[in-house]
Parts: sequence; C-alpha cells; structure tokens
Amino acid sequence: MARDISANLLDMTATLRDVLTVLNRGVFGVVFLVDDDGVMQGLLTDGDIRRALLQKASLSDAAGRFMTRDFVAGSDAFSRQENIRLLTEHVRHLPILDGQGRPVDMISWAEIWRLPVMEPSLGGNELKYVTDCIVSNWISSQGEYVSRFEEIFREYVSTDYALSTSNGTTALHLALAGLGVGPGDQVIVPDLTFGASANAVVHCGANPVFADVDRTTWTIEPSAVEAKITERTKAIMPVHLYGQPCDMAPIREIAKRRGLFIVEDCAEALGAEYKEQKVGRLGDAGCFSFFANKVITTGEGGMVTTDDRALYEKMACLRDHGMSKDKRYWHIYAGFNYRMTNLQAAIGLAQMERVEDFLTYRRTVVERYNEHLSGVAGIILPPAATWAKNVHWLYSIVIDERRSGVDRDNMAAGLSDRGIETRPFFYPLHGQPPYSSDETDRYPVTDWLAPRGLSLPTGNDIRLDEVDRVGMAIKRIVSDARLIRRHMTAP
Ligand SMILES: *Cc1c(COP(=O)(O)O)cnc(C)c1O
Repeated sequence: MARDISANLLDMTATLRDVLTVLNRGVFGVVFLVDDDGVMQGLLTDGDIRRALLQKASLSDAAGRFMTRDFVAGSDAFSRQENIRLLTEHVRHLPILDGQGRPVDMISWAEIWRLPVMEPSLGGNELKYVTDCIVSNWISSQGEYVSRFEEIFREYVSTDYALSTSNGTTALHLALAGLGVGPGDQVIVPDLTFGASANAVVHCGANPVFADVDRTTWTIEPSAVEAKITERTKAIMPVHLYGQPCDMAPIREIAKRRGLFIVEDCAEALGAEYKEQKVGRLGDAGCFSFFANKVITTGEGGMVTTDDRALYEKMACLRDHGMSKDKRYWHIYAGFNYRMTNLQAAIGLAQMERVEDFLTYRRTVVERYNEHLSGVAGIILPPAATWAKNVHWLYSIVIDERRSGVDRDNMAAGLSDRGIETRPFFYPLHGQPPYSSDETDRYPVTDWLAPRGLSLPTGNDIRLDEVDRVGMAIKRIVSDARLIRRHMTAP
C-alpha cells in the first residue's frame, strides 16, 4: 500500500533551508525534487546537505544545485519484492515512480534492515531443556527445572534462597508483601525507573514516594532518600538502572539507622556488582526480571533472592495462593499465584549456563561503543563508578543538545532512518497519573536526564560491526548537526 509522501515532495524553487525543514521533521529522511508536472528531478538526503555546506553553500541556495540526479528509482509496475531488491546500504531511500516518472511511493532501507535494541539469545540448551519438559509431560510449575533454575541462580547471586516468580513485577510485589508492606505505608522509589517499580508498591496498598537520582550514576541519590523518610516509611527500593548498581553503602546505613527494609530492584542488573558483591544480596530481598529483553530471559519470569529464611517461607506461601505447606487447602494468607512454569525455568537454566559468557561479551561491546563515542561533543557516556561493575543491560547515553547540536528525539529519528532502533529513557514517575500526589518537591536531575537519555542496541548477540555502524551513525549525526547549526547562526 502506498504511503503519503506528499510532505517529502518539493518543487525546483526549494532552498536548502526548505529541505532541512522537511528532514528535521524526521519523516523518511529524504526529499524528492519534482518539476511543474510532478516529474522527479532528483533527491536530497542529509548527506547531500552536508556536502553542500562543506562546499560553502548557503542555506538560501537552490536545493536543485546539490541534489542527486542519477538516483536509483523503483517503479509502481514492479512488485514490492522487485523494488526492495534495488535497495542497498548506499541506496537507502528508493522513490517509486509511476509511468510518467512521478514519485508515488517510497521504500526505505530502514524498512528492511532493523538493528533491534535487544534480542534474546537462545542458542544454548534452551531448546533441549524445553523439549525435555514436553517429552516428559512436566510443563506446569511442578517440575525439576524450577528447582534447578532457583538453585543455579541462588548460587550465582550468593544468597541462601532464590524463589522464582511469574515475572519481575510479581517478584517485587511478593517481596514487599512478604515484608509486610501494606496500606498506609510508604516506600521510597527513584523518580527515574520503569513504572513497575512503583506499581508493585501501589499493589500493596502502599504509596510510592519518589527520590531524585544522582547525576553521575542515574540511580537513587542517598541524601534524597534520607530527606523523604517519614514515620510511615517502611522500605527503600533502590533500582540498579540500566545495569548500574546504586551506591548501596549509604543506603544500607540509612536503612539500618532508620529501621527500614531494602528491596533491590535488580530487573536490569543481573550480574552487576557493588564493591565485589552481586546485586540481589545487598538488601532484605533482591528482585529480578526475565522478560525477553533483559540480561537473561525466560520469556516472562522473575526471581526473588534473600538470606532471610522466614521471609523466604512467607513468600513461598504467598506465591502459592497463601496455602499452608502442611495442611492441604488451608489458607494462611489471601495469597497469589505467582509461580513460574517448568517450561520457563527450563529456558532460565539454559540461560544461566551462559550468563558469564553474555556478560563478558557485553564488556567487549561496551568498550567498542566507548571507543566510538568518548569525546563526541555533547554525548555523555554511561556511568562507570569505580566501586561498581555495571553490566550495561542497555548501553545508554545522555545527549546534551547545547553541545551536540541535536536533541535526543532527532538523534533517535536519524538512527531509525538508518535502521537502528533505540529506546528513550523512562519519563519521570512523579508527574504520571497513578502516582501524582500533592507534594511539590522537585526532581531536577531526573527532569534533566529523562528527556536526554537514549539506549542503544545492546543484545547478547549484537555483532561488533553492528556496534561500529551505530557508533559511526551517531558521530555523523552530531557532526552534521553542528555543521548545520554553524550555518544557521552564521550572518
Ligand atoms: C523490567 C523491569 C521490571 C518489571 O519486570 P517484568 O518482568 O517486566 O514484570 C521492574 N523494574 C524494572 C526497573 C524493570 O526494568
């Protein structure tokens, strides 16, 4: 089906500035110049603008002087497959012309080549173990893979107990409920995190109270936590955001002094370390997610780790409808069904067998990104605190437009035009409908980071030449933006 390309058509009187206006809207990343009969004369992309400006052109010059005249075009008489075959990495925008040579549609490279932000890597024993579940008829939460997965996980994080759950949000809810968080209580949560962190608090009938994050680690700021404590505060939920551990020593000190629980949200940080200790063992409970885009996956799934035997037993009971272990169908609590299936656990076990390989390879990817991006104007690299091992769930950058010349959304559009998927940071939670409160507090660091943060492709199987492609694209977009800005501001 043809799309509406009318916004990308300009006549021969168009200037370079007109072309830039269309390109900056971020739709398709190309302009087609047509004559009075609508017949295509040439096309311009950001690369043509760059070359024009480097040749000292002015933005008021006619765009036609700089257009590509010997463009490759498809035809509306061809099938889509035939047209697609004309695309290459260098022919990124293919106009589709009618019999008179008028553009009526287009296909872009980004439609046929996508580099996802994250993809699961399922090439180990996943299929073998899942097959085993099916062949043996053990597919529910009763099955040996559940306990094997919990055991390998418990050993990896070095806690006494690990309890699998249906997902990361139920892991958080189970931990909070297990610690007795309930109506009227408050839990301190960072303002910059995925909404599930706060939702789990709301599901307990308690209130999330937000604390601003630290400028260098992007994670909860200990002094902001202290400032938010009231007599109703029951727990603190540090979130190890994008794989970077929170500064746990001051948080633990505050929790101990004020008699508060700590529930770590480790959903994005499996394998991350704070002062040589794995996250998930630094509070009363650690909660993990195995959604398809996390460090390891079970499709959907989660885990709670703890050293507290009583908490573990209560959570195990709550997970299983609140039924007594000893007296069948006798309910101690109005519990939940938050169990993981044997099928999920089979995948989880196979993933845990490879977790160290995943993390080692991720470090190579991160170093490669850093080589490309360190020193690029306005690009702030991910946190690298000396006391922590960041696992870079998603390699994330912050873009300071004052220096880069391009804001986060235009960077994302430019990368998308090259087939590269990205992810914006989370919105600050404090203004969102389910959590709005009458508090008037300000969150300057979160408010600064959230609209500027961008996560780049970081799958466990991403190739280094793909990382190179992303790195080079970012450098190109920044240098183009700075070049254009110099011309915009020139007299
Ligand atoms: C993914 C995630 C969760 C929720 O995990 P699900 O398995 O999707 O329920 C919670 N907190 C954070 C920070 C996350 O990134």
